Amino acid sequence: MGPRSLRYSLFNLVSQTFAGNRGWTPAWRKPAPKPAYDVVIVGGGGHGLATAYYLAKQHGISNVAVVEKGYLGSGNVGRNTTIVRSNYLLPENIAFYERSLKLWEGLAQELNFNTMVSQRGVINVYHSDPQRNAYVRRGNAMRLSGADAELLSRDQVRELLPFADFDNARFPIRGALMQRRGGTVRHDAVAWGYARAADAQGVDIIENCEVTGISIEQGRVRGVQTTRGFIGAGKLGLAVAGNSSHVAALAGLRLPIESHVIQAFVSEGLKPLIDNVVTFGAGHFYVSQSDKGGLVFGGDLDGYNSYAQRGNLPVVEDVAEGACALFPNLARLRILRNWGGIIDMTMDGSPIIDKTGIGGLYFNGGWCYGGFKATPASGASFAHLIAKDEPDALIRPFRLDRFARGAILDEKGMGAQPNLH
Ligand SMILES: Cc1cc2nc3c(=O)[nH]c(=O)nc-3n(C[C@H](O)[C@H](O)[C@H](O)COP(=O)(O)OP(=O)(O)OC[C@H]3O[C@@H](n4cnc5c(N)ncnc54)[C@H](O)[C@@H]3O)c2cc1C
Repeated sequence: MGPRSLRYSLFNLVSQTFAGNRGWTPAWRKPAPKPAYDVVIVGGGGHGLATAYYLAKQHGISNVAVVEKGYLGSGNVGRNTTIVRSNYLLPENIAFYERSLKLWEGLAQELNFNTMVSQRGVINVYHSDPQRNAYVRRGNAMRLSGADAELLSRDQVRELLPFADFDNARFPIRGALMQRRGGTVRHDAVAWGYARAADAQGVDIIENCEVTGISIEQGRVRGVQTTRGFIGAGKLGLAVAGNSSHVAALAGLRLPIESHVIQAFVSEGLKPLIDNVVTFGAGHFYVSQSDKGGLVFGGDLDGYNSYAQRGNLPVVEDVAEGACALFPNLARLRILRNWGGIIDMTMDGSPIIDKTGIGGLYFNGGWCYGGFKATPASGASFAHLIAKDEPDALIRPFRLDRFARGAILDEKGMGAQPNLH
């Protein structure tokens, strides 16, 4: 068991001030891998770290390693645009993402880490009667499943976003669907907070350790080959997001997942301008403002398969056009940074959390471009699956074989075309 790092509290802040700040300990240890663990989780992103935390916290299984090929947070957990919400249409998805939203609401206290949960409201604007009907239906579905949803009139949207272009020739704003409990969470803090809390329970977080092979004997997992040697595993959980197909192939699995690139952008700092998260689905643009003042925004997938963590100029242009169509006052905005992340697109746009046909091998992935908001619920449910060897009610629909059975969760009604979800 690792030494518990000093609790973050006003008392410790004051007492450390007088003690010259010499009592603080690193947020997590840097242990060398042990020969074997009860459970090894591959992938030190949000989902892998949350799984390890809940395995220890809720199931008393702390002889656990999280094996990460880079540094902690180098994957999509540190690359996303930080939006959390549960504004889905299908009851299976709403229930799951609503559980996640509830866990976000208490996460800072649970982890003793300031995850900067900001429930500033998520606004989806609409531009036509058919789109309004679709949002009414979505809002009603959300309310029936216990999530909050409100339909805003054009005037109500104008009060929140007075500078938006309400009379755009192609996309005039007619109203919006709003989820007030949605918002943003600081992505890095989620990785660091779960890592620190898991480490305090005795979980070994092993960075710079790439899994290069999965050892299977008589239909059961025995461990993983890594760049830091062989690590034995009683059970093995894969939570590698954009690298899912590649890592699952090490166990001979072929997944209904494709990897695509999606980009994010951060602008120069502005005075407070956009109080909420605004999404403009018809033009593929969404935006929020960080506490430092930068606008954080993105748009559509780059639209081709890739494992490169960078995007291309046509999508940069498309996102800029979307931004200016909605908010003409952004035309002179300067971009400070942009980057890409590899995302694991399933054929129906919904995730997979399930056992595999191999004993002791469990899979978590297919998060598409929306898996950050799923992190707490995914970790809790994946930990349950690994500990009990059976899915809890929330993830039962997220089976690996649902495509073969025709039980798909086609949230967007786009059919089996991953680049459209
Ligand atoms: C630009 C962008 C914007 C996004 N915006 C949002 C958003 O606003 N809201 C939202 O909900 N979601 C968003 N997402 C999606 C979200 O970021 C992902 O779905 C989610 O982070 C994936 O789960 P993770 O955190 O576990 O993944 P990751 O952080 O990618 O974790 C997987 C880890 O596995 C490691 N790994 C891979 N292969 C190996 C190996 N062989 N051995 C060891 N380790 C390995 C990787 O290095 C990585 O650290 C966005 C994604 C991107 C790229």
